[in-house]
Amino acid sequence: MRCSRMFAPTLREMSTEAEMSSHRLLLRAGFIRQLAAGIYSFLPLGLLVLQHVTNIIRDEMNRAGAQELLLPALHPQELWAESGREATMQDILIKATDRRGTKFYLGPTHEEVITDLVRHNIRSYRDLPLNLYQIQMKYRDEPRPRGGLVRTREFLMKDAYSFHCDEASLDATYQKMIDTYKIIFRRCGLAITPVDASGGAIGGKETKEFMLLIKSGEDTVLVCPQCGYAANREIADNIPPCCGVPYEERSGMELGHVFKLRCAISEPLHATVTDENGAETPIVMGCYGIGVSRILAAVAEVNNDENGLIWPMSIALYHVYLLAANPTDQVQKDLADHIYNEQTAAGIDVLYDDRSERVGVKFKDADLIGVPLRLLVGRLAGQGICELHDRKTGVNVDVSGEQVVSEVSRSIANKLPYT
Ligand SMILES: [Zn+2]
Repeated sequence: MRCSRMFAPTLREMSTEAEMSSHRLLLRAGFIRQLAAGIYSFLPLGLLVLQHVTNIIRDEMNRAGAQELLLPALHPQELWAESGREATMQDILIKATDRRGTKFYLGPTHEEVITDLVRHNIRSYRDLPLNLYQIQMKYRDEPRPRGGLVRTREFLMKDAYSFHCDEASLDATYQKMIDTYKIIFRRCGLAITPVDASGGAIGGKETKEFMLLIKSGEDTVLVCPQCGYAANREIADNIPPCCGVPYEERSGMELGHVFKLRCAISEPLHATVTDENGAETPIVMGCYGIGVSRILAAVAEVNNDENGLIWPMSIALYHVYLLAANPTDQVQKDLADHIYNEQTAAGIDVLYDDRSERVGVKFKDADLIGVPLRLLVGRLAGQGICELHDRKTGVNVDVSGEQVVSEVSRSIANKLPYT
């Protein structure tokens, strides 16, 4: 990609309204723009990161045996009445009405729609277990949108739903999803703490939240300083400290959630299968969510400095930011063009700054948008040498033109987390 053709409107000045650094930087670097309160457009750079996150999620969900589908965003009102959640979730439901006066809700979550699909298409225990997921926009009438992409009224989510004929099968998939989530977040460069939110011995629901422990998080997490066990407040208030020392209170941002629904949705919707004895039994369910657009905010929040964003290589918009110090110098320009073509052919994602700006302006933009590696073709171009700069460590190394592809490929591979 050439910078001269790129739609990435960066801002020099920043509004002081944005309280979180991720929000300020994503706006300033031209990744997102707000259309209305809690409603954002993803510009090309923002979408690139989002796509890299969704690629990792798809990769790991498919590896875990889940199948992707895509469900409608418009949900018939009767379906929400049937599950009983029209009343309990009324506050966040956004309504829509068609020309005939038929009422719909914009989907805030998809348990109803997917259970409706499964009840009409699955009859026997032999068809289970099943784990289905989608990556789609969700709509919730948040009273207080905040933090840019952290709390919005329209957001991208990965939601999975599993269907089982018994608890043991649900337990196995629930554990598989917890393991899969740990890999997904690690690949996105996030150190996530799984937080116990399950009723366990005190009864009730069983659920785990995947939290990023950061000061700007709006949830409270209680962490054992000895062993690292973490629980939400409701749970921590009801169990003794695990290692005999008091829990420490931390702030967290929730990025994922796994939940044993059991028959809470299938029973009201009469979603059943016949078991091996031929008896009708309600389908046992689990659901598993990841806030995809919120991951962008989370990664930006923990990976930045005074100059801008620093994307982890695994989800970075581009691998390399390439520029010639003086593009009017034919030797520099030829070497930069050559490197661009060679790297692109080698499958390296290069952003080539071919604008007629001063080199200082280009450096600032490269730092602001946070491309992990920068290649400068400068005064040593005559000797075929360019300078490779690491955005995170600030380390510079000289690389010869013949070795640039292998050297950059090696740097990229070194920056990818093991899976
Ligand atoms: Zn402990």
